[in-house]
Formats: sequence, C-alpha cells, structure tokens
Amino acid sequence: MRTLADLPNLKSKTVIVRCDLNVPLDGSKITDDGRVIASLPTLKYLIGEGAKVIVISHLGRPAGEVVAKYSLGPVAGRLGELLGTDVSFASDTVGSNAKSAVANLQDGQVLVLENLRFNPGETAKDSAERSAFASEIAAFGDFFVSDGFGVVHRKQASVYELAGLLPSAAGLLIEAELKVLVRLTKNPERPYVVVLGGSKVSDKLGVIDHLLPHVNQLLVGGGMVFTFLAALGYKVGSSLLEVDQIERVKGYLKRAEELGIEVVLPTDIVVASKFGADAEVKVTGSDLIEGTPFGASGLGLDIGPASALHFADVIRNAKTVFWNGPMGVFEIDQFANGTKQVALALTEVDGLSVVGGGDSAAAVRILGFSDEQFSHISTGGGASLEYLEGKEMPGLEVLK
Ligand code: ADP
Ligand code: MG
Repeated sequence: MRTLADLPNLKSKTVIVRCDLNVPLDGSKITDDGRVIASLPTLKYLIGEGAKVIVISHLGRPAGEVVAKYSLGPVAGRLGELLGTDVSFASDTVGSNAKSAVANLQDGQVLVLENLRFNPGETAKDSAERSAFASEIAAFGDFFVSDGFGVVHRKQASVYELAGLLPSAAGLLIEAELKVLVRLTKNPERPYVVVLGGSKVSDKLGVIDHLLPHVNQLLVGGGMVFTFLAALGYKVGSSLLEVDQIERVKGYLKRAEELGIEVVLPTDIVVASKFGADAEVKVTGSDLIEGTPFGASGLGLDIGPASALHFADVIRNAKTVFWNGPMGVFEIDQFANGTKQVALALTEVDGLSVVGGGDSAAAVRILGFSDEQFSHISTGGGASLEYLEGKEMPGLEVLK
C-alpha cells in the first residue's frame, strides 16, 4: 500500500485528505471528538511539509441533501482549536464557495469542505455518478491522501473513485489502524479473548464466523446476547431479539463446542420494566428473564453484576483482547455497569487491548476512561469488523 512517504515534495502542492470526522453530536455540540483527534497526525505532517490541505469528510446520513444539522462547520471549528491554527470552512463541497476558498488557500493552511454526503454522488449506487462527483473534488488538488479509516470498507466517491483520479496514498491513521488489526489476525498472543456486544447481532455474526477458530474465548453481551439466549431455548421477554438469526447462532454454538472454544454468555441479566432512566429494575438469571414481575414485557438492558465480574476476570487474564459493542445500554446510568466493568478490565490487560466500534469508543470516553489506558481505540467500527471478517476493503485495495 502506498503511504505518505511515497508522496515526495508536497511544498505548495494542494493535498486533499479524506478524513472520517463523523463525530457524535448533541445539537451542534460534539460529544466525542476522538475522530477529530485521530486525524491530527496526518494533517500536522502535511502542514509541516508546507502543503495546502483540503479536508473532506462526511457527517451523519443526510442522504444526498443539505441538512443543516449535519454541517461540518462545528467540526471544522474544533479541528482549528486542536491544530492551534485557523482552519477555514467552505459552506459547500464543490460549489462556488468551495472553489474560491480553494483558490485562496496558502501553503500550510487547512480548509474543510462541507459534508460530502450533501451531494448525491458521494454514496450513489451508480459508479458513473460517483466518478463524476469524485472528478469535481479531484479538480481541487494535486494529491489525495486517504485517512478515513472508518469508511475504507465503503465503495464511495471520496474513498474509492477519488483515489483513482489523483496520485494517492494512505495517511498515518490508516497505517496505525492496520498495524493493530494485523496483530489481531496474525499470531495473536494467547489467551486471545474477543468480547462482542452492541445492538445488532446480524452485523456481528460475520466476525464471529471468521474469528471463532482463532480465539480462545468469546464473550457475548449487549443486545445481541438475547439471540444467543434464545438459541439456548430461553425466553427473553421484550429484549432485543433477531429471530431470523437464531438458527445461525445455534450453528456457531455447536461449532465452538466442536473446536473446544468457550463461548461465555452472561448468567445474570439486568431486566427493566421499560426503556428509560426511570425504569424499575430487577437482576435475574439469564434463563428467568420472564420470571420477574415485568413478565414478558421485561427488557434485558445490561449483563448482571455476577456476569460483569466474570467477564472482567476472563479479560484481565488475556494477552490479546478485542472488544466491540457495549454490554448494555450504557447511555443510561443504571445499565452501564457491564460496559464499565469490561472497559476497566481491558485497561488492566497485560498485553494488547483493542476497542473497536463507534459506540464502544464513545462509551469508554463517556464512562471516564482515557485513550491511553488502552493499547488502541479504533476509529472504525464497521471497518475493523470487516477487516477481521477477512473481507476486501475497496478503499485500501485502490491504494495498492
Ligand atoms: P458499536 O458502535 O460499538 O459497534 P453498536 O452500534 O453495535 O456498537 O451498539 C451500540 C448500542 O447498543 C448502544 O447504543 C447501546 O445502548 C445498545 N445496547 C447495548 N446493549 C443493549 C441491550 N441490552 N438492549 C438494547 N440496546 C443495547
Ligand atoms: Mg454503533
């Protein structure tokens, strides 16, 4: 793969950098600026080289239309604060405002263009439409640097087609992310423990499929665990359940047994009367979720305290841990314990501890942990998972 070292003499050249600045927002307030921070090394390098730097990114899913709440304006502001320099912002992506801002850009300056996804070409199904949009962006620059690790698994104009239109290379974030993923896939130090949670079991089954033979223990929590419990024949009340995935999960459980791999499921569950901070709560055995006073309307919203301690024990004794997906609805305090205990245990691992996934990364920061307490917090949830699934990543293939 081509890297920044393959792009010599960038002084006074215009370099377009695809970052992933898709941060979580509360109104116009950035609730977790981890992705902005992760983009800094490449941008600082390019500034240091005396390049004119154009930053492009998406934010949210505005589906090809201008949606004010998904403007990258506030993100450009935060980027300027973190870089300690003036960062200019164009109120469109390839329109007249962007054109004049690009024309005024000086050596060592940074310009952020408005949200790529305000343009239908960015995510168009038709490759000709994507190419047309990519050409408009390419016209702004001499070089392209791909550094939005969170989107390298997507065949989108700014990730795939654009890289084919200019001399291009991977940025420092992509290099760093790949280094860690390689350590997870090639001879990981053992015991190797994978912890999966989060809301969508169908999103994560591919990774189980691929990783199962390589891990020593697989711990499952979060909303996806109820499909596992249902596969064991337990009734899960009104908890998240993907009925159409039960058979597949049964297959994994059987295969794990044959391979001698331990799939660790919670033995107790925090069951709530409803979804919300003011819910009534009972802790019960995983097989007795409908046995609480809430009956079949009970909702499992976190792994129970005994399970959290057991998960933490397994994690602490591992040499390599990959964790994706919160153990419960951590956004609500009374369902955050499982996620907290798992995060804490990862910080105590004597070896490689990796957190992947947008919500998981946000969770550890919101719960008060700092990035330095983990070996690595990945900026790309879907991208890391697809890499671990062994899938081809269009945004990386095109840089080879
Ligand atoms: P990531 O972005 O890290 O890959 P996901 O998007 O898969 O994680 O899942 C994160 C979401 O899962 C969180 O918003 C959390 O509230 C939710 N979640 C976790 N456990 C449960 C549960 N038991 N029931 C419903 N939602 C849950
Ligand atoms: Mg998520």
